[in-house]
Amino acid sequence: MSEPNRNPAQLTDVSVLGLGAMGSALASALLDAGRSVTVWNRTPGRAPGLQARLAGTAREAVTASPLVVACLLTYESVRDTLGPVADELRGRTLVNVTTTTPNESRQLAAWAAEFGVTYLDGAIMAVPAMIGTREGQIFYSGSRAAYDAVLPILDVWATSEFHGEDAGRASLVDLAMLSGMYQMFQGFLHGAAMVATMGMSASEFAARQAPFLSAMTDGFAGFAEVVDGGDYTVPGQQSLDFSDLSHLVRASEEQGVDPAPIAAVQKPIAQQIAAGHGREGFARIYESLRAAHPATTRPEEGTAA
Ligand code: NDP
Repeated sequence: MSEPNRNPAQLTDVSVLGLGAMGSALASALLDAGRSVTVWNRTPGRAPGLQARLAGTAREAVTASPLVVACLLTYESVRDTLGPVADELRGRTLVNVTTTTPNESRQLAAWAAEFGVTYLDGAIMAVPAMIGTREGQIFYSGSRAAYDAVLPILDVWATSEFHGEDAGRASLVDLAMLSGMYQMFQGFLHGAAMVATMGMSASEFAARQAPFLSAMTDGFAGFAEVVDGGDYTVPGQQSLDFSDLSHLVRASEEQGVDPAPIAAVQKPIAQQIAAGHGREGFARIYESLRAAHPATTRPEEGTAA
């Protein structure tokens, strides 16, 4: 396994673009691991304590190292920052850990290929405090050769996991996991709003809800087995008829709390019951979710960053 060679004209091992909470943590972990680092941030003066080489422009940062890490805010900020310095990126490896959608990651990979840049997309499953520990995970997809070459550097940050050469895969897994997390958070807050109408504090509700939800996650594997097997009639499942949540929607309305979160769960249940699948398992709502939305592409897809 060999890392990208740093030629004598290059000043440091890694350049990190973006010194927000996450970019600073990534740069700091690299420095702690003994790597030489150049940093750049759009607004000067962020992360003043970092013992890194400071670049005055993105162009200067990009040319300082064979490995360039972008940790900016959105797809647009990566495109706006790197678009004008594409020629300087040629021949280097770009690891983009900015959160982007799968299609945005693919667009960046296509753009990088056009300019002779080796592209690896990263999705961070960690908060800044977890960077530099084994607790955090970072998913990668894109160039396998780049992943193998820079793995000793990536491993400084967290547990690294490669998801394939389709640059969008890491982001897809990341966003799918976050989708589950945010729906769970909203579910908790919805429940907290319901019990607040009779005076229970959110803290008291949290103390009850957390262990309950934690125990319920044991059910994922069973649902997954049914979905993967594609047979929703397997005996022993909770049926859709039994899972009808109309009463939960009504209870929320009766308490004057917006029923939207639970109504969103009831919608595919009702659809599947109406389609005649009431005696089949709850996991069948997966079929409604998969069929509900045609895949979309961004209007500017295919254009250079
Ligand atoms: P911050 O808000 O702390 O920092 C954002 C960074 O992006 C700053 O360096 C900011 O520069 C820069 N930036 C924003 N817009 C532009 C632009 N148009 N051009 C150039 N630079 C720009 O965010 P984080 O550091 O926390 O997050 C960075 C990325 O990491 C995001 O994509 C986030 O989703 C992802 N991430 C963050 C996690 C976290 O817990 N923090 C967890 C997992 C992923 P400036 O200082 O000039 O505004």
